[in-house]
Amino acid sequence: MNCIFCKIVDGSIPSSKIYEDDHVVAFLDISPFEKGHFLVVPKCHVALLTELPAELLTHTISVVQRLSAHLLKCLPCDGFNLLQNNGSCATQTVPHVHFHIIPRFNGKALNWISGAYASGEEMKLFQARLTVNEK
Ligand code: AMP
Ligand code: ZN
Repeated sequence: MNCIFCKIVDGSIPSSKIYEDDHVVAFLDISPFEKGHFLVVPKCHVALLTELPAELLTHTISVVQRLSAHLLKCLPCDGFNLLQNNGSCATQTVPHVHFHIIPRFNGKALNWISGAYASGEEMKLFQARLTVNEK
């Protein structure tokens, strides 16, 4: 299947991974709305939230919660947005279900435009700060 997130899951293309367990992977978004923006992705390929088995959704959202707590403490940031797009009309560009976690800062507006890291080194710095090792 020609799915970019399945390729990240099976390791055939690289990603800046910050967490992995048997069912879920999380990695930095390559075009972040804000540096530190990451994605939580169930390993099994389904396109939409409505197709995700309930048990897997429960596990995935608990990982979202845990990694978000880590983000607040270790980035650090003051808050975060949780975003989850379903369907191209809703601006879903990768048809493999995923949750966006976007760091927010007091007094700093977000223009919701895709950005970039200054360098691979900068991205590695954010990856190191946000990596959670325990499952
Ligand atoms: P969505 O619009 O909700 O489908 O979001 C898909 C996200 O995946 C976008 O924010 C992209 O920047 C991100 N993305 C696409 N390809 C990659 C990749 N290879 N590594 C990390 N993030 C990616
Ligand atoms: Zn997929």
